[in-house]
Amino acid sequence: MCTGNVESLGGQTMALTGKVRLRGQHVKRRVLAEVVQAHGAIYKPSASNKVSVVVHGDLSGQHVVNEWLEFSRKLEFVRSVRARGRHICVITSRGLSDLLDGGTAVCQTS
Ligand SMILES: [Zn+2]
Repeated sequence: MCTGNVESLGGQTMALTGKVRLRGQHVKRRVLAEVVQAHGAIYKPSASNKVSVVVHGDLSGQHVVNEWLEFSRKLEFVRSVRARGRHICVITSRGLSDLLDGGTAVCQTS
């Protein structure tokens, strides 16, 4: 049940989409996976019914075509799941950084 905030990374199953930054810095996907897993989350390379949180990366900066396709595919999955009455939380890069710093992240509803 989503309260509007993601309270912690522990126990979450996470997928990332777009250019996710960590405290404002570009970080390789492999490193992000290690960081979230060090905080008790499970990292998944793709969106699935197991995923509880998707980190919606920044749109700014350069993207190659494949990343754009991947980006929209994961968010489209979230939208379809929500349309069927289940919920996957979506947080921003800043939200992820806040969680890593012990704070909470606002769930993006649209
Ligand atoms: Zn949520």
